[in-house]
Amino acid sequence: MPDMNFLPFARPDIGEEEITAVTETLRSGWLTTGPVTAAFEKEFAERIGGDVHAVAVNSATAGLHLSFEAIGITPGDEVLVPTWTFTSTAEAVRYLGGEPILVDVHPDTLAIDFADAERKITDRTVAVAPVHYAGLPVPNSELAAFAGAHGLKVVEDAAHAFPTLNEGLLVGASQSETTVFSFYATKTMTTGEGGMVFTHDADLAARMRTMRLHGIDRDVFGRYTSTKPAWHYDVVAPGYKYNLTDMAAAIGRVQLRRTDQMVARRREIAARYDEAFADLPLTLPPHAPEGSTHAWHLYCVKLDENAPVNRDRFIELMAENQVGTSVHFIPLHIQPYWRDTYRLTPEQFPVATAEFAKACSLPIFSAMTDDDVDQVIDATRRILG
Ligand SMILES: *Cc1c(COP(=O)(O)O)cnc(C)c1O
Repeated sequence: MPDMNFLPFARPDIGEEEITAVTETLRSGWLTTGPVTAAFEKEFAERIGGDVHAVAVNSATAGLHLSFEAIGITPGDEVLVPTWTFTSTAEAVRYLGGEPILVDVHPDTLAIDFADAERKITDRTVAVAPVHYAGLPVPNSELAAFAGAHGLKVVEDAAHAFPTLNEGLLVGASQSETTVFSFYATKTMTTGEGGMVFTHDADLAARMRTMRLHGIDRDVFGRYTSTKPAWHYDVVAPGYKYNLTDMAAAIGRVQLRRTDQMVARRREIAARYDEAFADLPLTLPPHAPEGSTHAWHLYCVKLDENAPVNRDRFIELMAENQVGTSVHFIPLHIQPYWRDTYRLTPEQFPVATAEFAKACSLPIFSAMTDDDVDQVIDATRRILG
């Protein structure tokens, strides 16, 4: 039986407005991708700013797959992916027969280490897929310089990074080929399951729109075949089934309007943790530099070597103290599939391997009450103080 005093690691921030919006959609008679999804794409694109194209999908994983397909990943193509990520980033490359080449990370930000990435470039390398880990952006200037120097395409895994300013631009507005957001239940905004891809490139947007719905090209129909009847459509490729439902989009439109309030709450919680844990034997998460912001999707602390307990024991004790925690991430080079397929060893990723032993994510979500925050602080101080 669930313990009422147990604070879960994450809980979605859903209010009456979201519930009403879903109910209205249910009563409207149109459930699948339709007018609400179109409005969600338009409003999100306006929020990101500039002449971006928004493509709503049913998960970020789908968005990553569509991105890699649209930029032309074919069997044997190599894509640089940080080992410190969720398996989606790499698996979406495998769907197309591409080879994710795992890269070590910076010890402080846990984001892709461009020096290690550079060492792993071959004549098959065609793209890089950085992850804005925890909601802290990989600086646009560094990313563009690295990709430009090596002629690589860029797919940003921004599953943690809405809303995040990256050197003055919202993540999603950069010149990268695509940027992919996740609306999974634990992310900074949610639609239950869902995602959105942004691109400045009209051709990439058109390809992703076609492939997200069975390879059906309605634009071809609209533009060139005006003599065909309304029931006609053209299948131009073996596409996927990645479209977002209008019920999900209805939640998303409300969440989008609430993002400033929700990110402000996350920022408040992070500030309280920073202050409460300053004297404990752990490393606090890094903050965004001037001109950038942090979305605080995750608050990942790293236990010092001289801490009274190790990370695994800390997680057990936090649970005994009624607080759910998690680990983001178990690096991909340790996961059986990636380790065995690419014969990877911990020594090839010294930073990620060492940081993994110390990392623990504490609860941080906009629906947390002040009492919830106190509960996390008290438990953490009791164990490590
Ligand atoms: C959550 C997450 C994803 C996948 O998002 P879905 O919407 O669940 O497919 C991809 N990358 C990272 C880094 C994530 O945290």
